[in-house]
Amino acid sequence: MNDEPGKTDIEEEHFRNLVETLPNLLWICQLDGTCDYSSPQWSEYTGLPESEISGFGWLEHVHPEDRQRASDIWKTASETSTSLVMKFRIRSSDGDYRWFKTRAVLQTDQREQLQKWYASATDIQEMSETQAALQELNQELESRMAAAVAEVKESHADLEDLTWQLKEAQSLANLGSWGLDVETGKVTWSEELFRSFGLDPNTDEPLNLEQQAEVFEAESWKSLNQAITHALETGEGYRLELQFSLPDSSPRWILASGECRLNPNREIVGLHGTAQDITQLKLTQLQLEHNSERMRLATEAARIGIWDFNIESGQLVWDDMMHDLYGTEPETFSGTFQDWASSIHPEDLEPTQSAFQQCLAQEATFESTFRIVKGDGTVKYLGGLAMIHRRQDGSAERAVGVNWDLTEQKQAEFSLRASEHLLRDFVRYAPVAIAMLDSNMRYLQASERWLTEYNLEGQEIIGRCFYQVSPQIPEHWKEIHQRVLAGSTESCDEECLPQRDGANEWLQWEARPWKNAHGRVGGLILYTRFITNRKRMELQLRSQKDDLERSNRDLEQFAYAASHDLQEPLRAVSGCAQILQSRYKDKLDSGADELIQHVVEGASRMQTLILDLLAFSRVGRIGASFTTFRVDKAIDEALLFLDSSIRENQAQVSFEPLTDVTVTGDFALLRQLFQNLVGNAIKYRSSKPPRIQIAVHRDDQEWVFSVQDNGIGIKSEHFTRIFGLFQRLHSRTEHPGTGIGLALCEKIINSHGGRIWVSSEPGHGSIFYFTLPVPNGDHLDDVQKIY
Ligand code: ADP
Repeated sequence: MNDEPGKTDIEEEHFRNLVETLPNLLWICQLDGTCDYSSPQWSEYTGLPESEISGFGWLEHVHPEDRQRASDIWKTASETSTSLVMKFRIRSSDGDYRWFKTRAVLQTDQREQLQKWYASATDIQEMSETQAALQELNQELESRMAAAVAEVKESHADLEDLTWQLKEAQSLANLGSWGLDVETGKVTWSEELFRSFGLDPNTDEPLNLEQQAEVFEAESWKSLNQAITHALETGEGYRLELQFSLPDSSPRWILASGECRLNPNREIVGLHGTAQDITQLKLTQLQLEHNSERMRLATEAARIGIWDFNIESGQLVWDDMMHDLYGTEPETFSGTFQDWASSIHPEDLEPTQSAFQQCLAQEATFESTFRIVKGDGTVKYLGGLAMIHRRQDGSAERAVGVNWDLTEQKQAEFSLRASEHLLRDFVRYAPVAIAMLDSNMRYLQASERWLTEYNLEGQEIIGRCFYQVSPQIPEHWKEIHQRVLAGSTESCDEECLPQRDGANEWLQWEARPWKNAHGRVGGLILYTRFITNRKRMELQLRSQKDDLERSNRDLEQFAYAASHDLQEPLRAVSGCAQILQSRYKDKLDSGADELIQHVVEGASRMQTLILDLLAFSRVGRIGASFTTFRVDKAIDEALLFLDSSIRENQAQVSFEPLTDVTVTGDFALLRQLFQNLVGNAIKYRSSKPPRIQIAVHRDDQEWVFSVQDNGIGIKSEHFTRIFGLFQRLHSRTEHPGTGIGLALCEKIINSHGGRIWVSSEPGHGSIFYFTLPVPNGDHLDDVQKIY
């Protein structure tokens, strides 16, 4: 190694030269920062000898503000054995500080075998300044940029503002704008236009010309199409009112205007324009037209004539209806006040004229009713109403008015008055006590009978309160009156009114509301009738009826007792007479035989009579036993009783199959009824063999039976009589009988709640009818099977 000592020295030399040529400040320190070596650049920069730098001298030249930080970084790096980079300021020989960037690396010193710092500081003052200037510039730029951005933003906001305002204005005015590019055929619409067409500007496309053709009304589309064609040909704009329909078919109107858009060569490149939605306006206009048409129709229908009188010039204008009302011709009408005056009824001219003059002087409206005389002499009533127009100073300028025909109304009024008069007279002279009162119970009218019956003659009661006029009325009548005024009708057939003298008066009354023209209760009408006499007679009649019934019952009782008690002695008489006849026939003289024969016959007749009487008086006396049974059973049994008579007379009795007809009653009595009727039909036969028919039909809740024969018949004057007791139309020799049979039938039927009658014609037979109630639960459906 020592062979080449010169080489190390040379290398050191080179190194030193190299270090000293570097612009950097270089130094070597121990771990704690003690400087062992500083390059000549240090002395050069600081203007101090190397000795001042070594040790910790270099730290003295670091800017006081950076010193502590530099020393701390150094210390930390020493402790962690890491290299360091830091910036701090170092004082120069002229006392100014400059920025240096220091890098220090830990290396082992070959010679001393110690770890040392090898540090180099590069002057970055200029770079720092440039950097600061750049930073400043940057800041400036940034602030300018920000200002520019703010400005752009502001103007953008202004633009947005303007667009919004435009949209608002368009929306407020319902005004939309549109454009059409001729070359591309593209249509553009403003938002408002979308809305006018019921479309959504955010989702829908503007309608192209084909779609518009669909939407517009035929006429509108035609004129729009012509206008567009004309504009494109001539460059002239247009303005049109167009109608179209919304998707929901409601009509819309727009006022559309179009202008041509020209390029710099003044060639037409498109169309643009506005479209204002005038639907509301149009609808209002249509409504107005409709209203005025309605008004016209109304005045025409109501036959209202309109006139206009210029007070200053004296010019009078009439519409057609006025001429129609007055029967004048527009051609001969001179338009003066005199035209009107000459038509007025002479009696009404002066009052109407002076009323009009008074109105001119003071009031605003003029109302009147007057008569006119038409050319043909007919008189009409007219109603008139007029408004006076005045100048600012209050003087009358113009009068405009209407006339209408009141003739029918007047006539109705007259006839109403006449009928009122008639009604008043009618009430007044009605032969009943009747009074008409208003809702406050004040008398409106009363009949003369009312006045006499209530001792009000000579008193002026009209307008006075009912309760003042008659304070003695029963208290409960007031409640009745209130109910009637509330709308109900009340009546009483007999009300007893005890009198002061203890006697009773009987009154029949009725109170009913009367209604006014509005259909509301206007008051009440009272009708009363004293029925004391009738009531007395009724009471008398009732007592007489009771007496009669009592005596009838006694008589029936007597008849029953008599016929019952007579049977026994009569049987004895009859028996004895028969014995007498059989024992002494032809043993006495012929006169005695005849007398005995008379006794036998008389006793037999008397027995029949007594049996019949007994049967008659039994009906209703002995409690009937009612059951429900098939009626044909009763008929069958009756025919069985009549069997020998039927045979003898070769009679035929037929009846419908009555199996479904049931009745509720006393079987024995109804059997007796059929027996009597069929028996009579055979007994009162003609020369022809008897033909008897029993039938029945239903009439609502009744069975109507009929027993028809082909016998001798009955004259109509006897139809009622034959049902009387002991009433006969024939002598005993012609037809035997007691005259009780039909009376018994009637009594039986009455006791069953039915009726009996006959219809007949002499020589043509008779039909005896009787009714019986249909038992409950017997249905029509069942009965109809019979027919
Ligand atoms: P009577 O048969 O016992 O005389 P009725 O009371 O049964 O009594 O009849 C009263 C009268 O009615 C009879 O006398 C007769 O003249 C008349 N009469 C009753 N039934 C018939 C009949 N079917 N045809 C004609 N006359 C009749």
